[in-house]
Amino acid sequence: MADMVYKYSAMNGGKTINILQTIYSYEENNFKVVLIKSTKDTKGKDNILSLNGMSRKADICLKEDETLFQEKYYQIYYTAKAILVDEVELLNAKQIKELWMIAHLINVPVICYGLRSNFKGNIFSDGISQIFAMADHVEEIGSSSLCRCGKKAIFNARKENDKFTDVGPDLVIDDGTKEEYEYVPLCSDCYLKYIKINSNEAKKLTELVDKIK
Ligand SMILES: [Zn+2]
Repeated sequence: MADMVYKYSAMNGGKTINILQTIYSYEENNFKVVLIKSTKDTKGKDNILSLNGMSRKADICLKEDETLFQEKYYQIYYTAKAILVDEVELLNAKQIKELWMIAHLINVPVICYGLRSNFKGNIFSDGISQIFAMADHVEEIGSSSLCRCGKKAIFNARKENDKFTDVGPDLVIDDGTKEEYEYVPLCSDCYLKYIKINSNEAKKLTELVDKIK
């Protein structure tokens, strides 16, 4: 039976280009693929957009609590060689379990692309916890997402009105309509320096280090 694969990176890590290349490879060989995106991802509306300006229309735009187990969708899965999911962190845990079951019962590979953590440095969603628990393979996509210092980016930091922050609404999609928000990929050292250095934990540890010195 087919597997469910989870491919993650920090933002700007080449996820969408990777999906578009994968779709191209399948379609070049006359294999049909199904592209799924969440309607919560308002960027590009029904399309997925890569940073280099390429795009592809999604075959299924999945609503927040919609089930993947619907007759109209089964007909699509059965004719597909692969199911690809963009921004999988926007799906819920139930939808992830459904994708896993589709891979293993219908025998269609499911390849999901997404983020690991949110701007607070926590696991992005219940959907991401579920996919780490159930995916047959978990892969980090290259190291193309770089921090401003040049190291590999791990975190997806948020700026609100040009200031780094780890408080605020859980989900703000960067679709160009909310100018006060901006996302910045950061390495662990820079995430600590810009965001967590004023936390109680960091202050406590700094005090202890100073004492020992
Ligand atoms: Zn850095």
